[in-house]
Amino acid sequence: ESAMFQQFVTAESISADGHHVELAGNIGKPEDVDNILANGGDGIGLFRTEFLYMDRQELPSEEEQFTAYKTVLEKMGQKPTVVRTLDIGGDKELPYLKLEPEMNPFLGHRAIRLCLEQQDIFRTQLRALLRASVYGNLKIMFPMIATLDEFRKAKALLEEEKEKLFSEGIEVSSDIEIGMMVEIPSAALIADLFAKEADFLSIGTNDLIQYTLAADRMNEKVSYLYQPFHPAILRLVKMAIDAGHANGKWVGMCGEMAGDEIAIPILLALGLDEFSMSASSILRARAHISDLSKVELMQHLDKILSLSTSMEVEQYMKKLLNTNN
Ligand code: PEP
Ligand code: MG
Repeated sequence: ESAMFQQFVTAESISADGHHVELAGNIGKPEDVDNILANGGDGIGLFRTEFLYMDRQELPSEEEQFTAYKTVLEKMGQKPTVVRTLDIGGDKELPYLKLEPEMNPFLGHRAIRLCLEQQDIFRTQLRALLRASVYGNLKIMFPMIATLDEFRKAKALLEEEKEKLFSEGIEVSSDIEIGMMVEIPSAALIADLFAKEADFLSIGTNDLIQYTLAADRMNEKVSYLYQPFHPAILRLVKMAIDAGHANGKWVGMCGEMAGDEIAIPILLALGLDEFSMSASSILRARAHISDLSKVELMQHLDKILSLSTSMEVEQYMKKLLNTNN
């Protein structure tokens, strides 16, 4: 099967009717970059940096992080590389931080919430990122943003660290895009406000689905509620994409949905700019997109968005994809 897609390693990510998208990869460790490049990734759409903090006894130093980010950026060259700041909490624990147990960890003190409180941890990461920025095409993204205040505070801390580095005479890239994940319903619902202040948005469907349907993404008992094609999810995704575009910003997706065969045509029709997925999904997605006509799919959008259940959307799409082949 991999041989079948080999021709797509060096191919452009382009639909049958000539619409360009970006097919990027998700990574957790610097060494994962090789696999993204071997699979023809146009960029990194999500570097989950928490893996640098896990399976160890203490926080990674600024120097250690700098080396990790520099390695990734150098390997990617001019290809866009979106690094997400620490997203710890929820299912991802750091025993050495001795965080208090919580009743509802997924609704608790995690990710940007923790970083804005434990600023020393956050600032160390931001410094490492800023120092590494001169080695490639860095974009920084904040996870679990629920309010504009959080996004502004995170940006302000980044700005402060940048100023400090300037005054120390350390070089920092002058064009680092700053974006955020849209993975909490509140963020999707006010994506128009966020899009004025962010350089890009990246939709995190893994959490967006969990929070929108109130169904723990780790709990098998409620996995039937984990519905990427639920009309509520499609509407939130559309809101985020439209809000980004109305403000001249690009919009990506780095949740599992971005690599889904049925979701891809819908996302293409909605105008998603960047699809970020596991390395092993990139070539299949590129082949799939090369067979799809964006303009044709757009003619089905109103119908798709008017359907009432996840099942109806899936059935409609399966039929549509079969008749096209
Ligand atoms: C997401 O929530 O969709 C996402 C990409 O982030 P993670 O899976 O790391 O929570
Ligand atoms: Mg998430």
